[in-house]
Amino acid sequence: MAKNSTARKGRPKVTRNLPALHRAIASFKARGQSIALVPTMGALHAGHLSLVRIAKARADRVIVSIFVNPAQFAPYEDLRTYPRTFAADVAALAALNVDMVWAPGVKTMYPQGFATKIVPQGAAMAGLEDAFRPHFFAGVATVVAKLLIQCEPDIAIFGEKDFQQLKVVSQLTHDLGLKTRISGGPIVREADGLALSSRNRYLTPRQRESAPTLYRVLKACASAIAAGSPLAAVLRQGRAAIRRAGFTLDYLEARHAATLAPVASATDGPLRLLVAARIGRTRLIDNVGV
Ligand code: AMP
Repeated sequence: MAKNSTARKGRPKVTRNLPALHRAIASFKARGQSIALVPTMGALHAGHLSLVRIAKARADRVIVSIFVNPAQFAPYEDLRTYPRTFAADVAALAALNVDMVWAPGVKTMYPQGFATKIVPQGAAMAGLEDAFRPHFFAGVATVVAKLLIQCEPDIAIFGEKDFQQLKVVSQLTHDLGLKTRISGGPIVREADGLALSSRNRYLTPRQRESAPTLYRVLKACASAIAAGSPLAAVLRQGRAAIRRAGFTLDYLEARHAATLAPVASATDGPLRLLVAARIGRTRLIDNVGV
């Protein structure tokens, strides 16, 4: 199949308005080409790029959206200072031969008078991210629904890094009867275990040294639980270890890996351990399977 006929080889076409996006998608579809979408907020790192590689393997055309979504930030969060590295992002995507970057402005996504919100339930109320960022999943669900409707992808790839978000998006797609298949990509980490995140650049050198504690504790808890240690005691010790490393802990929880429902013991599994903690002004999340 001829690839990249709407973009010069290697350079993604950067599209900022809906008519141009719709024309490009119509032309992909007219040629019978499948489309994969990778939604991002930019400031791309190797974690995002791993999702792009999965997308490339699964579809004829790959669209990466870059949109820092104001609706998923609370007024006191870091919307204004969220890292924006658009030129470098496009260069990184060019190196992977991405077909299109969908980079709408805020007025394109939320035109004057915008009055619709999708408020997810189910996994979005699991008492994890939702308990600490009450605004978050309605913002994510609304923008992801818009992106899926705009781009009409056959498949969309989301990172397991945002494990609860992956569940919310899968549920949303099912509930709205969208044709897109949702697929998860594994977490990409630094050599010392820290999960890659656009927010890692906020860390001071000292905080950066402490940051891998989250993953170390997750792994230690997962091993202890797998070896038969009681869940509650393991989590208690894990929480203490995270606090000792200088974090303010939002949560460290074991949940059912499929439903995110609370579990009483390892036999209620398959389990997923999920953590969110703040160090200085930076909030980090991570998770592992047991
Ligand atoms: P963001 O730009 O932070 O909204 O992330 C865009 C997508 O990249 C989401 O589906 C994230 O889950 C995914 N992602 C972020 N960090 C990682 C990582 N370290 N490994 C794999 N996927 C990631």
